[in-house]
Amino acid sequence: MSTIVQKYGGSSVSTPSKLKEVARRIVDTRNLGHKVVVVVSAMGDTTNKLLSLAKEVSPQPHRRELDMLLTVGERISMSLLSMAIQDLGAPAVSFTGSQSGIITTNTHTNARITKVRPTRVLKALEDDYIVIIAGFQGVSEKLEITSLGRGGSDTTAVAMAAALNADYVEICSDVDGVYSSDPRVVPEAHRVAEMSYEEMQNLADSGAKVLNAEAIEWAKRNQIEVRCVATNDPSRSGTNIKKLSQTHDVHHHSQISAVTSHPGLMKVQGPMSSSTKLCDCLNTYGITDADIYWQSSAQQEMWECWIPLLNLHQVEQMKHSLFALGASHIETDWSWVTMIGRSLLGLQETSSTGMEKSSELMHQEESSLLGQVSTLCQEHSLQATVLSFNPSALRWAIPIGQASQLVKVLHNTFIKMGN
Ligand code: ASP
Ligand code: MG
Repeated sequence: MSTIVQKYGGSSVSTPSKLKEVARRIVDTRNLGHKVVVVVSAMGDTTNKLLSLAKEVSPQPHRRELDMLLTVGERISMSLLSMAIQDLGAPAVSFTGSQSGIITTNTHTNARITKVRPTRVLKALEDDYIVIIAGFQGVSEKLEITSLGRGGSDTTAVAMAAALNADYVEICSDVDGVYSSDPRVVPEAHRVAEMSYEEMQNLADSGAKVLNAEAIEWAKRNQIEVRCVATNDPSRSGTNIKKLSQTHDVHHHSQISAVTSHPGLMKVQGPMSSSTKLCDCLNTYGITDADIYWQSSAQQEMWECWIPLLNLHQVEQMKHSLFALGASHIETDWSWVTMIGRSLLGLQETSSTGMEKSSELMHQEESSLLGQVSTLCQEHSLQATVLSFNPSALRWAIPIGQASQLVKVLHNTFIKMGN
């Protein structure tokens, strides 16, 4: 019997009647003969409301207590969903992250899953239950309740799917898949039918809400297929994320599938001498080294980096700490823009042409794509700085006010309809 993991986002379970519709969809899936494990997010904007509540009580809330509070959201929806399923006559049982065996690091408000020990989940499946799991949470080795960072229910779903050896994960939300850009910014944007893990990972890293970045790491590592579908679309067609080779559909040229932008990037500058202290300070606010984009500054003695503010709840306090440790300049009004695709640096040439040629080609493709974008930026007076590049993504930092314009220019230039 196949095992399927379904994850329902907050907007799919925002009201009691929507919860009941989801319960119906789950029971229908079970009736097709599958074992079903469901991971559920907090109802509607519950997490945001809990966060505001915390800040009314304490402007810079303690992160351990914040986790105790925020993880409640998912417990509300898991128990209600389980009740709704039981009312349809099917056996269901809900578990918290810790009861499901989701073990995490101890980084409160941004913990990472380190292990999944799904003993109780397996037992319940064996006993023919539909299992409902509270997403976005786990328990650390210190037995503290932790949360996984915003959008963390996706990670719960994929990590659980890997541990259960599930056939695939369905990510059910109010959007029917991944688009080549935000249709509100680029009206011509279209749905992308298939994406590689690498593309999706870069898209998620760039702040796109469609799927959490850590979830894709789990999917890629365990080769789990992830299907992003709209909860209320009976056709269940959306975007499938799976293993696709770099040369899939492309020969000797890059294929660009999406352009995305996200606000909430902070720029920090300081003298070289203070770099270690500043870096340690960022770590204490839950920012890991992997979250930081380093930039060598024009003046060698200066240190410069960009930091995403997504999971940071103490921005003002952190700014004070950074200034106290020697930061000379901090700006928070930056966005990041990412262009996603396959073979962006021409790496598909490696095996046929040998390493020397391939690195030469890589250089040409890389410089030609980056060069083209830099020319476009000059033509449109856009002030973009390259943050990072790899075969699946090129990423820039840009002042917030210019981000939409850059996205439109890149989409119009590089992405054709029906790509
Ligand atoms: N409820 C959490 C959030 O709003 C986690 C999730 O939805 O995945 O970020
Ligand atoms: Mg995280």
